[in-house]
Amino acid sequence: MSFPDYEIRVDSVSSLLKFHTTVDVLRLDLIHPVISGNKWFKLKYFLEEAKNQNKKTILTFGGAFSNHIIATAATRKEFNLKSIGIIRGEKPPILSHTLQDAINYGMDLFFVSREEYKQKKIPQEIFDEHKEEEIYIIPEGGYGIKGVEGVKEILQNIDNNYTHIIAAVGTGTTLAGLIEGSYSHQQIIGISVLKNNFSLEKEIENLIADKNKNRTTIIHDYHFGGYAKHTNELIYFMNEFYDNTGIPSDFVYTGKLFFAINNLIHRKYFPSKSKLLIVHSGGLQGNRSLPKGTLIF
Ligand SMILES: *Cc1c(COP(=O)(O)O)cnc(C)c1O
Repeated sequence: MSFPDYEIRVDSVSSLLKFHTTVDVLRLDLIHPVISGNKWFKLKYFLEEAKNQNKKTILTFGGAFSNHIIATAATRKEFNLKSIGIIRGEKPPILSHTLQDAINYGMDLFFVSREEYKQKKIPQEIFDEHKEEEIYIIPEGGYGIKGVEGVKEILQNIDNNYTHIIAAVGTGTTLAGLIEGSYSHQQIIGISVLKNNFSLEKEIENLIADKNKNRTTIIHDYHFGGYAKHTNELIYFMNEFYDNTGIPSDFVYTGKLFFAINNLIHRKYFPSKSKLLIVHSGGLQGNRSLPKGTLIF
């Protein structure tokens, strides 16, 4: 079972941002230009189980710009499994870059109505071509314990002297993995990119040990209108952040994450002498849906 070799790179951005707090960025975005960092880790043990159960095909769910869909599609080559993506909403006349890439990686796409998508119903026509018992289903966004197991490995070779580890949150699986993979003296903070997703706390609690619950905080104030929504202020910040640090971010997850941290530091959220590790979870491919020229990178 081979995952891409990756180098663990941590960039310091503290001096550039003129903070009196140490701020390092774990550059998982550098692992692969299209497949974002955290998604490989989340998929690892799902795929291993699919192989062990002799499944021939993996099936998962996502939207038209989903980093999870594209990462799942890309595993076809590594794992020799066919892949199927159930995509939310009607098939658009022009496919997004994400979906086009997924097809190029060999994924079969099926478009379903938002109602059907909500129910996670699998279209009957899929069973005409695939035996049901040979299909391995990965939950939407890679949510689940298997995802957590993979993410835990991210922190294996990372310095343990950070006081806070901070990441963007969608399903919460990545944050749960960071919680489980961190030390008891560390605070783990998640920046939710969905609007008012208050079931998140519960969903994360379902994935972690009781003893870790009291060092976890989810902040809901930086969604910029909701999932995949953005404002001029966010885009301006992302460009400025790139200008200052050389680090690109995506407008769905990590742009909101860096904005939040910058804002929280200025609001003196973190005690002095804090040492922050920000997890750059990748996702840069999603920026291709913005009009050309929006971002300077
Ligand atoms: C999917 C994704 C996340 C969120 O991960 P969850 O485990 O669903 O919370 C964060 N950042 C990027 C870039 C992602 O693609």
